[in-house]
Amino acid sequence: MAAKVDYKLIVGLEIHVHLATKSKMFCGCELVYGGSPNSRVCPVCVGMPGSLPVMNKQAYEFAVLTATALNCQIARLTKWDRKNYYYPDLPKNYQITQYDLPLSHDGFIEIPLEDGTIKRVGIIRAHLEEDAGKNTHELGNFSAVDLNRAGAPLLEIVTAPDMNSAIEVRLMSQELQRIVRYLGVSEADMQKGHMRFEPNVNLHIYKKGQTYKTPICEIKNLNSFRAIERSVTYEVQRQLEEFLETGKTMQMGNKRTYGWDDVHQVTVLQREKEESHDYRYFPEPDLVPVELNDIWLEQIKSRLGELPLQKQQRFIGQYGLSHYDAAVLTADKATAQYFEAVVQAGADAKRACNLITQTGQKLANQNNTTVDKLGISPQNMAKLAQMTDKGQISTSAAAQIMAAIVGKDTNPEQIAKAENLLQTSDAGAIEALVNQVLAENADAVKEIVSKGKKAQKAVGFLMGQIIQKSKGQANPKIVSEILNRKLAQLPGQS
Ligand code: ZN
Ligand code: MN
Repeated sequence: MAAKVDYKLIVGLEIHVHLATKSKMFCGCELVYGGSPNSRVCPVCVGMPGSLPVMNKQAYEFAVLTATALNCQIARLTKWDRKNYYYPDLPKNYQITQYDLPLSHDGFIEIPLEDGTIKRVGIIRAHLEEDAGKNTHELGNFSAVDLNRAGAPLLEIVTAPDMNSAIEVRLMSQELQRIVRYLGVSEADMQKGHMRFEPNVNLHIYKKGQTYKTPICEIKNLNSFRAIERSVTYEVQRQLEEFLETGKTMQMGNKRTYGWDDVHQVTVLQREKEESHDYRYFPEPDLVPVELNDIWLEQIKSRLGELPLQKQQRFIGQYGLSHYDAAVLTADKATAQYFEAVVQAGADAKRACNLITQTGQKLANQNNTTVDKLGISPQNMAKLAQMTDKGQISTSAAAQIMAAIVGKDTNPEQIAKAENLLQTSDAGAIEALVNQVLAENADAVKEIVSKGKKAQKAVGFLMGQIIQKSKGQANPKIVSEILNRKLAQLPGQS
């Protein structure tokens, strides 16, 4: 970059979330991932003439529930529209969506930033629509179409252009994933394409008292958090360079579409975007509008539960956890609930948190699951926490015991005894060991008494000798207390 330029990054997101209903949006075809191509299709989702769509009520409720969690205004009357375009994976030649009466609008999402502060991002609208099929190009000279995905319910969410860094865009995406998972409305598995993100990116460049806006670029179809952060970061540099070279600024109709090349880590120009009138939207004649009455709306809202950020903030207040610890524990609902069950069973919150987020998460990752599904009851996890707090076992022994009881839920005391992991806190026994070691190591004692250069090191050496003599079973905290008391009493110490 030749010149130093002042600028502000402006990003809005368009997100498509697959809803985890049992069947598709407008037909009875089963909604499951994968399966042999075109095995889950019917006249409605392949667009046979004369077939009639019927709205999936669960999809509608999932959409309203999510919109409520996003603090949106919920429309009491919505309708369906046809968005017309031709593409091989869209056999009807139109997509059923919601154009001018979306089911919700004007909300916001709150994102916990890494420094613990909260950023608010506006939600312009969230509406329902159906997904298209999938083109595949694995048959040599032929392309094929798989319509298993055609007609899957999608919630499209459009945010305000309120994000000002690539990290904020990533954090917003992750928070949305956490919310839809808490609500149980989507598996939100990025690898399966359950969530697709499209950032709209441009820069406000401040130069000689003027503000220049670079043309908006939409990056299509991102399906990993890494790609989201990296593609936005890349666009910042690309747009800066383009502006400095050409001076090109935003005009009507010069919004462009880019793809993300994950191999070369660059954005690639795809096309100039169609204006929305190109789609020739018109009301869907085969579906009736949806009227949402008070009773139905209240029923849906009653399923909201505690949202992830609320839970995270409650964990900080109620259990005295750090922002970081609370974020790790509430990353998924099951782990958060397990943590609370362990505390309920008598564990100290901070100790339970450490056991779960350190050894527990590691074991969960190894077993490709979450901590709550390791097969360790909250009672035994609480016992492990209590034994550690009482000094009966060391933290490394606690980790060892936890690994040993995965899937078995054995009482940790039993393992501690069997594996000889119990620490002794018996002050009398430890004091005898301390005396013995002091007597056997006159040189080290002399170094300490004379406050020699290696005095500190000598104390460590004596500690090590005592622990070794106890075969690793003396509680280090108590050893240290007794040793320091004894050393202070030695002649020549004041
Ligand atoms: Zn179907
Ligand atoms: Mn869409």
